[in-house]
This record gives sequence, structure tokens and C-alpha cells, in this order.
Amino acid sequence: MTTPLTGRSAAEISRLVAPWVDRPFRTRQVALWVLQRNARSFGEMTDLPKELRSRLAEHFTLAEPRILDIVRSSDGSRKYLLELDDGTTVESVAMPEDQKLTLCLSSQSGCAVGCTFCVTGALGAGRNLSSWEIAGQYRLMIRDMATAPDRVNIVFMGMGEPLLNLENLELALESLFETVSPKRVTVSTSGVIPGIRWLAGLPRRPKLAVSLNAPDQVRREEIMPIAGKYPLAELMDALRAFPLERGRRITFEYVMIRGFNDRVEDATTLVRLLGGLPSKVNVIPLNEDAVHLPGLLRPDAGTVDRFAERIRRAGLVVTVRRSRGNDVAAACGQLKGRHQGRTNATDHCRPDLSPSRR
Ligand code: SAH
Ligand code: SF4
Repeated sequence: MTTPLTGRSAAEISRLVAPWVDRPFRTRQVALWVLQRNARSFGEMTDLPKELRSRLAEHFTLAEPRILDIVRSSDGSRKYLLELDDGTTVESVAMPEDQKLTLCLSSQSGCAVGCTFCVTGALGAGRNLSSWEIAGQYRLMIRDMATAPDRVNIVFMGMGEPLLNLENLELALESLFETVSPKRVTVSTSGVIPGIRWLAGLPRRPKLAVSLNAPDQVRREEIMPIAGKYPLAELMDALRAFPLERGRRITFEYVMIRGFNDRVEDATTLVRLLGGLPSKVNVIPLNEDAVHLPGLLRPDAGTVDRFAERIRRAGLVVTVRRSRGNDVAAACGQLKGRHQGRTNATDHCRPDLSPSRR
């Protein structure tokens, strides 16, 4: 049995390889190769004795998901279709912007939460990704994009609900934090309250984003079944108790669906709901999908702008997610369709860095 060294912290890697090394400082060398130098094979670890390299290769792997396909967008974004050991596929997205690279990672291979506006939800439950399958997405994308870790932002906005995969998420975060500051990592949740409390207790916390998507309990429950289990009032209580470092905010994602949650009055209700919480609202015009999300449409640009403006006037920070990599998204449908008869699972994966136009 070989054990993956990927998806682990430096301390953990050192502990695992310690019984096999000839001298104590070797453990740190190995951790450095895995984490900082992002090695693909033990053969690359040229400052280790040859014999040690082959011994390590007998007991350990540097496992990562396998790239099945990469779709490149004209704006520089790349969407990856990845295959895991059991044949399951997931998607990840890399989005360059200015000097930064935002990586959108998946935490599960589907999603049991079943939000009505989400293609991953429409695909149904998948399985939890292991820590190496999660961290491996980061590893292979920074390699493919030839980007240094200090220019990377990570968002858990791909497939799945990260806070329903806590054990693997924790290990993956510890591994990612070796090269990417927690300030540059965002975990997005549909509102899993026990998971939010767990996150609150971590010694090193990533940033938190909450997919709100409706300003009141009734409508939220209509599109996000999980709101029945974790009602909005309790969710807001948990968020008010969430420890925030100075200057940090909680991001609230709000997918705008035409005729459902897109009125200026809805923005007013939203502002009232967030009252007093250091928050940033990320307005996301729905990504349509005629096959998986029939009948759901995005509002027109004017409606989106009026909604965002109402929130901004209340003094909150608002961004409107610029739709980019559209050709990637379109191609992604074909991509996954070609391989699996499924489409667009990370169509929503967009950077949330762009300020709205006004
Ligand atoms: N499960 C987590 C993280 C993955 S979903 C969560 O729900 O937060 C990441 C984001 O994509 C969420 O904010 C979700 O609301 C948004 N999203 C899902 N489907 C979308 C669609 N069709 N169009 C636009 N955004 C979508
Ligand atoms: Fe799952 Fe998030 Fe999609 Fe809801 S929006 S179905 S929680 S991935």
C-alpha cells in the first residue's frame, strides 16, 4: 500500500517519511519538494540520495487527479475536467486576473444539497473528495498555469458543499496553507451551521462566503432545501458569532434569478438582514442552463445594476460578478457532455474580484 504525501501539511509529511530517511533533516527536504516545489515525482528530488528516492517511491505517492481535458478561454481562464482513481470526474477552474490567479476548487464530485438553480445540485450527490484530491487540484493548476503560490487565490466554489466534507477539507486546508495564506483562501457554503461553527474554531481560518441567494426564509427554502434544516435566522446568529479579524468581512453570494429575487425591494430586505454584520455582497446573475435548469433565467443588466445600487447606497460593499470565460463555460458543457453526458457543473465558478461597473 502506498500513501499519498499530497494533501498533507509539512509536519504530517515529515512524520510519515521519518522512518525511511537516513538523516533527520531529510524529512524537511521531502516536505519542501512536495509543498514548495510542487514535485510530481520522487525522481525530481535530486538533492536526496537515489536510494532514498526509490525507497520513498515504494511507500508513498504524489497522487493528484488526472487531467482528462482542459478548455481554454480567450480571456485566459482554463477549465479542467479531472478524473479520480475510481473514474469519478470533477471540474476545477483557473482564472487569471491582473497579477493574480484565482483557482476554483471542488470539494465533492456532486452535491446532495440540491439547490434548484445549480447544475451540480441537479447532478445529485457525489462523493467526498479526499484531501489529496482537493489539494491536487491546486497543485496541477499552478503547474499548468506556471504561477507562483504567492499570486494565488483559492475559492471553494466548485462542485460540492465543502462544509459537508470537514475531515478532508481540514487536511487540505492545512496543506494549502503551507504555501497560500489563509487570507487568500475562501470557503463558500450553502449555510451548513455546524460546519460554520467548526470553521470558527479553527486556529487558522480561511475567509467565509455564504450563498444566501434569497433575502427571506420562505424564498430561500424554495430554492435551497438546506434552509429547511438550517433556517435563515439561525444561520445569521451563527454568522454574527463568527470571529472576524480586523478588516475582514463575510461574503454573501446572491444568485439573481429573473422574477424570483431580483426586485429592488428584495435588495432592501437583504440590507436589513445583513444589518450590523461586516459583509460584502457578491451579486451573481444566474448562469442559465436550458438542460439542467429549464425555465430559470438571468435578469437583464439594468435590473442587476439597480439591485446592486440599492445595496451600495446602504453603505455595503457590493460586487457584481463579471461573467468571464463564457466560451469556457459553453465549451465545458460539451466537455463534460462528451465524457459523461453531464454538463456545466462549475459554470458558476467565476472570480468575485471585479467591482461592479458603478
Ligand atoms: N456549495 C457551496 C460552494 C459551491 S457553489 C455553496 O453553495 O456555496 C458556489 C457558488 O455558485 C454558490 O454561491 C452558488 O450559489 C453559485 N451558483 C450555483 N449555481 C449557479 C448558477 N446556475 N448561476 C450562478 N451561480 C450559481
Ligand atoms: Fe450544492 Fe452549492 Fe450547488 Fe447548492 S449551490 S447544490 S450547495 S454546490
